[in-house]
Amino acid sequence: MERLDQPAAAVRIDGARLWGSLMQLARIGATQKGGVCRLALTDLDRQGRDLFVAWAKEIGCTVRIDAIGNIFARRAGRNDTLPPVMTGSHIDTQPTGGKFDGNYGVLAGLEVLRTLNDNHIVTQAPLEVAVWTNEEGSRFVPVMMGSGVYAGAFSLDHALAQKDHDGVSVAEALRSIGYAGSASAVGQPGAVGAYFEAHIEQGPVLEAHDKTIGVVQGALGQRWYDVTLTGMEAHAGPTPMELRRDALLAAARLIQAVNRIACAHAPHARGTVGWVDNYPNSRNVIPGRVKLSVDLRAADDATLDALNTELHAECAALRTQGIDVAIEQVVYFPPQPFAPELVDAIRTGAQTLGYSSMDAISGAGHDAVYLARVAPTAMIFVPCKDGISHNEIEDADPAHLEAGCNVLLQAMLQRAGGAA
Ligand SMILES: [Zn+2]
Repeated sequence: MERLDQPAAAVRIDGARLWGSLMQLARIGATQKGGVCRLALTDLDRQGRDLFVAWAKEIGCTVRIDAIGNIFARRAGRNDTLPPVMTGSHIDTQPTGGKFDGNYGVLAGLEVLRTLNDNHIVTQAPLEVAVWTNEEGSRFVPVMMGSGVYAGAFSLDHALAQKDHDGVSVAEALRSIGYAGSASAVGQPGAVGAYFEAHIEQGPVLEAHDKTIGVVQGALGQRWYDVTLTGMEAHAGPTPMELRRDALLAAARLIQAVNRIACAHAPHARGTVGWVDNYPNSRNVIPGRVKLSVDLRAADDATLDALNTELHAECAALRTQGIDVAIEQVVYFPPQPFAPELVDAIRTGAQTLGYSSMDAISGAGHDAVYLARVAPTAMIFVPCKDGISHNEIEDADPAHLEAGCNVLLQAMLQRAGGAA
């Protein structure tokens, strides 16, 4: 390997090449409105995977596929026994998804490896780019399936047995697209030295603050609930106001309360009622039963516990007003702080490169949130236009994508070592 005159810190990725690869991948499953429909483990997903694998092999990577279909493209280090410094994301999309969600993290990783090749830089530790299976959870539940199996959040057998609406299992779909690999799908402790994931923010905060890089501190914890409010159906005319047990009125009070509770724990708490079912939903009947969902999120468990306690107190208050309230927690994700030394590597990288940056928190789930359970992990956010994602109009500024990829390069070099 030739000696370098310029230090690795001076190396920059090729923004035009990154953009070109994003646009080329986006042609697979392209929609009329400029988005992408590439559901997990479909033939379109296979085509996207095949393109990534071809690109990875072109630059000399070895590729392995594990039993849940996760793809790992590996670039050897000087000391190949060291745990790899890994990056990655997903290339499956929502039915009306965009070009950047997930795809950016995968292709930014590929661009980092291409750049190192161009500059004849060999790192001490090996580098890997991962493509995680079924992050979106649109065709198969649970979401973040590949990284979830990898992190031990649920078992391989459980994931393989899940079926889509047509009764096709994950195991069958993996076999039919040729991505049922043989490598173990469960990450061993210490197997990954560091995991970075670059991603569009999928929210409006960076854009609102006119910042290029979001230094992500961690991911919000989540509690999801199913709530059933039961009153009594009665005629809207003969029943005086004080004698009603109106379940929809109770639901309205609870929706207000969820908003109030979350606002009281600003800036990171979230409270959302996104789904309501009103029974019998008839113009002149006082509603007798309402089912609704509640989604509470917070950056730390103490706050999430407080939100939970206050929600239950609101339910108790409704019970004193003649409404039966059944509340069941159906999902719990703990808050997931990221590794401080990796977060610092991202912040330092952004500062050294002269990009504006701010601390950020991930309100959504990402593969990185599961990876953080088994490896030091951090994320890089870049803005997306108007904060819109999971939408065909999802868009991002090429300059921001380039900046995020340069930060990823510097952070990976810093952790992989020996690259001057
Ligand atoms: Zn994503």
